[in-house]
Amino acid sequence: MQYHFKNKKITVMGLGLFGGGVGVARFLTMQGAHVTVTDVRTAKELSPSIKQLEDLRICYKLGGHYDEDFINTDMVIVNPAVPKDSRFIHLARNNHVPMDSEINIFFQLCPAPIIGITGSNGKSTTTTLTGKILQQTQRKTWVGGNIGKSLLSDLEEIQPSDIVVLELSSFQLEELLKTQKSPDISVVTNISPNHLDRYPAMNAYIQAKKGIIAHQKPADYAILNYDDPELRSWAEGCKGNVLWYSTKTTLSDGAFIDGDSLVLSVKGKTIKIPCVSGIRIPGIHNLQNILAASCAAYLAGTNERYIENTVTTFPGLEHRLEFVRQVRGVQYYNDSKATTPESAMAAVTAFRAPVILIAGGYDKGSDFEEFAGACARYARAVILIGKTAKKIQELIIQKKGNSEIPAIFTLNTFREAFQQATAVAKSGEVILLSPACASYDMFLNYEERGRQFKDMALAL
Ligand code: ADP
Repeated sequence: MQYHFKNKKITVMGLGLFGGGVGVARFLTMQGAHVTVTDVRTAKELSPSIKQLEDLRICYKLGGHYDEDFINTDMVIVNPAVPKDSRFIHLARNNHVPMDSEINIFFQLCPAPIIGITGSNGKSTTTTLTGKILQQTQRKTWVGGNIGKSLLSDLEEIQPSDIVVLELSSFQLEELLKTQKSPDISVVTNISPNHLDRYPAMNAYIQAKKGIIAHQKPADYAILNYDDPELRSWAEGCKGNVLWYSTKTTLSDGAFIDGDSLVLSVKGKTIKIPCVSGIRIPGIHNLQNILAASCAAYLAGTNERYIENTVTTFPGLEHRLEFVRQVRGVQYYNDSKATTPESAMAAVTAFRAPVILIAGGYDKGSDFEEFAGACARYARAVILIGKTAKKIQELIIQKKGNSEIPAIFTLNTFREAFQQATAVAKSGEVILLSPACASYDMFLNYEERGRQFKDMALAL
């Protein structure tokens, strides 16, 4: 596909704070387009993104959208977070204005092979690990996508012999389906209900995720989590080669654990990397992320030494089961990025020590039944905040029956919740912020929530 952006009038709908809007606005302006950025958020809310574009001539229409920007324009670039039923999208469509997205433009123009990583949980951790393993090789490695960095403005530097590692969200994959392209190597970490406020049903969400394999070619690879029942059924739909990974089962094609070794069995060759006891990031879920990343990076040409170096030194990402500090024998962990019940369950079950959990937040239509069961089983106390607090509280009470544990507290502010957690925690216990919910009811985003938690812990 040929793109001509020079002198075109282009509306970027949704600047956001995750890098995609900034990346596409910069790219298009550099290509000579006249760019209008419009967002429902205000300049103040978007200031971190606007700052990154300070050096460019861009017209901003913030705090809402205006009809004219969807009628009198040559193209609209839609941020994946914009709801599909937006009146302005209909307006552009009715006026025959072409629409596209940042990730689609990148896929069409990128000269290098792409490793695409998706899943309901673990995308950023797996993407970062894959990038870190490959960055040690001779092959120039670019990491970006939904992780918060658009690679569009790097396009001129990316060479065909390089490798690109992209985190892909379900919204981006839904867009990607329109281009009839999929990554050369696709990784899917797991599938659990997510964003059901945006998708009419679970099946629609799964179909969006399947965009990552839909247009693969016979020489391509799909790396799938064998321990995930939904993903096991995906093999049939794969047009390329399938590699599996599992923390429970020995496999003939893929990655698994044997004692202290991470085993890769790929293209008829088996290698063993003794490193499991040296892994620093906690939980079975992180072992799964490591298997997925090692497998993808191995396919892209890394060796066992680089895998071992990376997995034994990687301390984890900020806001993902991040150790903050220990005070009076109590360990504080920030897992603010756990915005789904499944990711918070992974966190609650990752500790041997008793857990005081702080959870709750914006309601995106998740089912908290299993999460409440895990709280009842593994937490010693649960401190709830936000829109979902009542819903979660009722479910935990149902699950725990007559047991006094976990104690449950519902509080109005985050600060009060933190103080309550600190008051009930005893030496040897863990205070874990792992909300199971998005943050939008009380915070700008999960990062702000995590930072506030860390600030309060560091101020103790
Ligand atoms: P994503 O990018 O998909 O949101 P992250 O790597 O940022 O995933 O991790 C988000 C949260 O999900 C973390 O807080 C962690 O507790 C949890 N998590 C990470 N990997 C997994 C996994 N493989 N399975 C379940 N939960 C996970």
